[in-house]
Amino acid sequence: MGINCHDPWTRLDPHGEVLGQRFSAYLAPTLKEAPAEAEIVSHKLMIRAGLIRRLASGIYNYLPMGLRSLRKVERIIRGEMNRFGAREVLLAAVQPAELWKESGRWDQFGPELLRLKDRNDRDYVVGPTHEEVITDIIRREVRSFRDLPLNLFQIQTKFRDEIRPRFGLMRGREFIMKDAYSFDADDEGADRSYWDMFKAYQNVFKRCGLSFAAVEANSGPIGGSFSHEFMVLAESGEDSVAFCPACSYAANLEKAQSLPYALTPGETDLPLVKAHTPNCRHVPELARFLNVKEESIVKSLLFLAEGEPVLALIPGHREINPVKLREALDGREPILATPEEAERVMGVPMGYVTPVGAQVRILADLGVARLKSGVAGAGEKDYHYLNAQIDRDFKVNEFVDLSLVEAGDPCPECGEALTIKRGIEVGHVFKLGLKYSKAMGATFAGPDGTEAPLVMGCYGIGLGRTLAAAAEQNHDQDGLIWPMALAPFQVGLLPLQPKNPKVWAAAFNLLDRLTALGVEVLVDDRDERPGVKFKDADLLGLPLRATVSEKSLAKGQVEIKKRADRTVVDVPVAEAAGELKKLVDAALALS
Ligand code: ATP
Ligand code: MG
Repeated sequence: MGINCHDPWTRLDPHGEVLGQRFSAYLAPTLKEAPAEAEIVSHKLMIRAGLIRRLASGIYNYLPMGLRSLRKVERIIRGEMNRFGAREVLLAAVQPAELWKESGRWDQFGPELLRLKDRNDRDYVVGPTHEEVITDIIRREVRSFRDLPLNLFQIQTKFRDEIRPRFGLMRGREFIMKDAYSFDADDEGADRSYWDMFKAYQNVFKRCGLSFAAVEANSGPIGGSFSHEFMVLAESGEDSVAFCPACSYAANLEKAQSLPYALTPGETDLPLVKAHTPNCRHVPELARFLNVKEESIVKSLLFLAEGEPVLALIPGHREINPVKLREALDGREPILATPEEAERVMGVPMGYVTPVGAQVRILADLGVARLKSGVAGAGEKDYHYLNAQIDRDFKVNEFVDLSLVEAGDPCPECGEALTIKRGIEVGHVFKLGLKYSKAMGATFAGPDGTEAPLVMGCYGIGLGRTLAAAAEQNHDQDGLIWPMALAPFQVGLLPLQPKNPKVWAAAFNLLDRLTALGVEVLVDDRDERPGVKFKDADLLGLPLRATVSEKSLAKGQVEIKKRADRTVVDVPVAEAAGELKKLVDAALALS
């Protein structure tokens, strides 16, 4: 089968894709130690196993073994995109600034956007995402409702000058993304496109062998009306997710809501009293000093939203969710006032800021409304008010949900106590609506000839991040444990005495049989001690290991070991290929 290659250990399939290859011909440099900058296990192991190498901060090269796994993620994604009717394109990476000015993002994007000039002093960006470019194509090429619906995807390098690139491929500055963009004539069509992509993403991450959850997400500065993130659950994840153990509710903590959290209302028939509270700038010390519960203290935090001072109130035992506050401020980013700004606007340090008599807009969390009255700053250093009461003592402009959900809060859908877990966002689907089509004039003619803007959706998966997340979820103290679907090779074949002609011939024969069955095999042909080969095999984490040695051949056997559970079976030489093929197929069927 296949086409020939001059290397005796190389086996190619009919398309010239590598099915079998020898370790010594690979650039697969394994390391005993991880570099100091590698903080999390996936980063450490991907470097140590020789999958990737750092070129600059947040910029990585894929070595052959890493690229093989990347290609597998790519193939799975492409397959699911094709299955749901998306068409593949490859858009330009360098994009003219004019498009970004049209959408308004030239000014909005900030320092994450890598801008460059050509020799004629024209401005360009290196694409961090492609809404502008795709909308530009569509407005030129799509004329009528007959061209719709349309969904286009690409797999391509992006650049975002992240403020804190870290964790290897997890948060890079240069990274590979699959991005898809859907265009529909109406809202119902856009919803169908959205849920198709949602299903495609579920399939992708399932087939990658990941344990993941789709959670409600905030659509953030990209805009749009609703969105989900696909989260791989892992301790090292940068996101927090609220889950209900009883029903299906799951949401990014940025977005999570709850039924009213536990709170005892304050007294409403006591007078306002000013109390001396020396050195009590923070809630815990104030609660201790006054001998009250933290929840009965109204925390007053001064924010500046594009310069406008806004006082946000929340019960002392809770934290403000900045994303909810931003939404309450119509998308304006609230920035916590510095001590100097608080002094300038309110005349006192932050810890003593008071809502009583405040001349600024006041937003209060719904918990404050239930509290009715409590301890509050007195607008004077070292003093607080007791029994400060809403309406009687201070006015609130608006009550809104500002609270960051905590573990144990009642689920908004069923009331069960929520739990919070860490997650890695590997994919994100957005319903964009008309944001870009309106800004850039992407319209189509309906059946009666009237022009209307296209309804859009956009959908992204980070390929490198997905690989890193798989490594984060699948490893032990000895190295990686690849899910079958993502492993660089499915089987590691270890001839322990490669110079012994019998061992050599048996390995050669097994390689032929396996690759004839379509199984991918990496042969460790190196003249190394068995211990070295076993260690590297564990580090690289190929799911199956087949060992051919003088000892095993004397019994007419090959040893097969599963990397994940370390179980070992000896099988007759003649059955080894069939047995390995069965194990590969069984593992792929599970994912
Ligand atoms: P994050 O919140 O993690 O910064 P994002 O919300 O900016 O990500 P999207 O614009 O939704 O990311 O991009 C789609 C996908 O691209 C993400 O789900 C993630 O898998 C991947 N991705 C985004 N930023 C990076 C990055 N810096 N490095 C690697 N992958 C990334
Ligand atoms: Mg996102």
